[in-house]
Amino acid sequence: MSKFFSEKFNKLTPYVPGEQPKERQYIKLNTNESPYPPSKKAVEYAEKQSKMVMLYSDPDQKALTEAVAKELGVGADCVIMTNGSDEVLNFAFMAYCDDSHPAVFADITYGFYKVFASVNNVPYKTIPLREDFSIDIEEYLNEQGTIFIANPNAPTGLTIPLSDIRRLLEKNPNRMVIIDEAYVDFGGESAVSLVGEYDNLLVTQTFSKSRSMAGARLGMGIANPQVIRDLNTLKYSLNPYNVNRMTAGAGIGAIEDRDYFVKNVNEIIKTREQTAKELESLGFSMTLSKANFLFIKHDKIGGEELYLKLKEKGVLVRHFNDPKIVEYNRVTVGSPTQMQAFISAVKEILEELL
Ligand code: PMP
Repeated sequence: MSKFFSEKFNKLTPYVPGEQPKERQYIKLNTNESPYPPSKKAVEYAEKQSKMVMLYSDPDQKALTEAVAKELGVGADCVIMTNGSDEVLNFAFMAYCDDSHPAVFADITYGFYKVFASVNNVPYKTIPLREDFSIDIEEYLNEQGTIFIANPNAPTGLTIPLSDIRRLLEKNPNRMVIIDEAYVDFGGESAVSLVGEYDNLLVTQTFSKSRSMAGARLGMGIANPQVIRDLNTLKYSLNPYNVNRMTAGAGIGAIEDRDYFVKNVNEIIKTREQTAKELESLGFSMTLSKANFLFIKHDKIGGEELYLKLKEKGVLVRHFNDPKIVEYNRVTVGSPTQMQAFISAVKEILEELL
């Protein structure tokens, strides 16, 4: 770091995104992207908007916000559109965490939460998952901080029921609860339906996974209008044009093309279930994932060894060094062809061990 870098960032360890290798063509199952291209309508609308980029994008994102609100069955004043859901999550750390409201989240969850806490200089506390990686909601009921729960959780893919979220919201009416639903479309139960009932709930979602738009960076927050106003105060204090024209156009196209979205999500769920079955028959154990990835381990080969051997064979999966999950790998559900290649590589690796 330079001698000019502010001391307040002395201890900041940035988030490490999954590898995006350029040296070789991999079967990429490491960053939970969709194997399917964006909707044609999304591309068409983005192209149209690309011809207008001499003008700023709409800071209110009126058309996009209304389309998303209609899709989710809430009022437009209950929605904020952001540059990926990472941005709205960061806004939530800024808006709702401080020394007397530390961030509280699971010990094994989305790795960015720690970074958001750190960059915003707010304390955080982690709550251990149970042995089977499930969340024990009882452990969260008496916390004094602002709670962040990914549902489905990452990298486990496990869900908590809406009844647990309801209990949390009711038990803590004076604390914000943020439910991160990046993977909800692949089989989770959305808490958006609770937004009208609880003023302490913020739900975050993204176009990155189920709508094939990871590279466009589009996410949203859904909450009661007062919470949305807080988040807009931050947005207008940082970057009112946080969603660019092409991305906003693509977002509207993706929402209009509902059949394509449903078809892709169903395809990924089907491929997930088939891959899970095949992996089980090869001796893998795994969590009951409701996301677009599987979280797997095998007694005969360590997590890191499997990751490295798969990489040698041209298949990239995600391995984490946290001791609690070091024997596991997170494998994104790709297309059936990609998953066949992955399974073939796994079979070869297991055979080589004998
Ligand atoms: N939440 C979770 C649990 C995630 O895994 C991700 C993706 N890395 C995000 C949020 C952020 O995704 P995006 O910014 O692409 O919407």
